[in-house]
Amino acid sequence: MMASQTKDPGAEAPGSRTPGTSHLVWIRAIWSEKGSLIAILFLLTLLSSAVAVSYPYLSKLLLDTIQGLLETPTTGDPMLEVNRLLLVLVAVGLAGLVASLFPGIRGMTNSVFEHLIRGKYFRRILGKDYSFFSRFASGDIVTRLTDDIYDFPKLSWFLCSGIFRAVESISKVAFCLTAMFLINAELTLYSLIPVPLMIVIFYITQDRIYDTFQKNQQAISAINSRLEMSFSGVRIIKSYACEDKYRRFFNEVLETRRNTEMGVARLEAVLHLIYQYIDYIAQAGIFFAGGIMAVRGEITIGTFYAFYTYLSMLIYPILDIPQLFVSGKRAFVNIDRLEEMANHPDPEFREIRHPVDRIQSIELRDVCFGYGDRPGDALKGVSLIIHRGERLGVIGPVGSGKTTLIKAIIGLLSPRSGEILINGQDLRDSDGDSYRSLLGYVPQEALLFSGTLRENIDFGSDDHTDGNFGMAVQTAQLTSEITAFADKEHTLVGQRGISLSGGQKQRMAIARALARKPELLLFDDITASLDATNEERLMNRLNELSADISCVIVSHRLSTLQYVDKVLFLKEGRTLAFGTHDQLLGNLEYREFIKEITGDS
Ligand code: ADP
Ligand code: MG
Repeated sequence: MMASQTKDPGAEAPGSRTPGTSHLVWIRAIWSEKGSLIAILFLLTLLSSAVAVSYPYLSKLLLDTIQGLLETPTTGDPMLEVNRLLLVLVAVGLAGLVASLFPGIRGMTNSVFEHLIRGKYFRRILGKDYSFFSRFASGDIVTRLTDDIYDFPKLSWFLCSGIFRAVESISKVAFCLTAMFLINAELTLYSLIPVPLMIVIFYITQDRIYDTFQKNQQAISAINSRLEMSFSGVRIIKSYACEDKYRRFFNEVLETRRNTEMGVARLEAVLHLIYQYIDYIAQAGIFFAGGIMAVRGEITIGTFYAFYTYLSMLIYPILDIPQLFVSGKRAFVNIDRLEEMANHPDPEFREIRHPVDRIQSIELRDVCFGYGDRPGDALKGVSLIIHRGERLGVIGPVGSGKTTLIKAIIGLLSPRSGEILINGQDLRDSDGDSYRSLLGYVPQEALLFSGTLRENIDFGSDDHTDGNFGMAVQTAQLTSEITAFADKEHTLVGQRGISLSGGQKQRMAIARALARKPELLLFDDITASLDATNEERLMNRLNELSADISCVIVSHRLSTLQYVDKVLFLKEGRTLAFGTHDQLLGNLEYREFIKEITGDS
């Protein structure tokens, strides 16, 4: 939690821009995952445009036929031709019914893409290491996976509705223009005049559009990050009586978002106004020219009617096409924000990875590790070896690198230099999943998931039997507490259930680790959760369970040292001493540290 408080995505510099073509490649890749759906949509779209455009043309034929009949009556059945045309109109109407299904299909496809993208990027993000999560705040990640892709007019809407509305518009314009050319070429040319103007305006404004929308998405991320912070830190805010101060802090981001939203609304209003006016003027001109031609008798009433209808049909598609470019620019911002996360370097991955089926030994050779941009290293040349069944105690002052060491052993952090060897094999060449399946990790700050106590303990293990559960609970010294709850092991924890004390949570985490039947247990400072008596029971139970379980136990309690074979004494990331407790007593600094912690407890 603390790490996320220092970042503010709203203040982040805009990411480097990818040219338009790579966005198109991205869209094509996503589309190809739902190829047949896209093909159906294309067909339906073209069908519906063709149907819509055929009405005025058929009406013109109908009108012209009637006019012809009135002027020069024939001897045959005058209604025959009219009836034929009416039949065609009915057929077109039926086709229109089928085509009218497709806004519904479009809506469904939007959500198909929404889930597809969210699932895809969620998987990518889960594969990232700590540096990713220290760069992106949780609220920011949530925004990019929800607001950025969800709903009108964001990414998933654009991927289907947006693009297909444009396809519909473009095909309508093309069909209309073809029909109009067929009817009267001269009048049609007049109606093309505003198109280049619209394109020029889009080119002039496109950077502005991108910037405006990017700033707005960043503002939304900033709000969500601060919301996330305020609710996860609500106890601190309340106990410090800082509500007012925090409200002001929150209002700042709200204000930023209000400004960016206003910017978006202003830009949209101006663009809409410009496009609408261009269209009005063009329409008035054509209406005037067409009227004169009809009065002069150069065109029939049917032609004038069809032209009039086509012109009114053209307004919306023509207004909609620039809208596609605008919503495209918006969607490109969303794509870039997703890709920015995906492109954050993945943990180093080697071609050949050896599965780890047993832990014989773990060795650190001269391991140095530093956190991201922080100057200096948190581990400075640490070397140690743990054999199967051995227990290593790690002690040292706060900030000496104990937690960092545990994370490095798990493989959550990759060393800057030096090697971590599992059974003599470099951890980077080992298969991480099979290695970690042999570990039981109890973090310094235990975290439980929402759900029941039982689900939390079973979480990481494949053995969900009562026997295994009982063993884990008993070893972690939790039995009496769980039986004291009304719902026993089915008691809910987390947001909708009870909350446990820090110590209980950590013992839950111990049980969760033990349920995995690990070969290596990593306890990151469990002194707060177990008193000396319970610690002794835990250690004795571990001895009974198996002599083969290796342990790394971070502690700052002297009594822990009696359960370990070797002690690593860390200070400022450096090994001050490594050996048995008795050997280490020869070291002056170690003796002083021991005196200090004995005085403490
Ligand atoms: P310990 O567990 O012994 O108290 P840590 O391993 O947590 O110490 O930390 C060692 C050093 O690394 C400290 O100086 C700490 O400030 C730094 N550190 C720990 N975690 C991070 C992090 N996520 N980003 C940057 N620095 C960190
Ligand atoms: Mg620590």
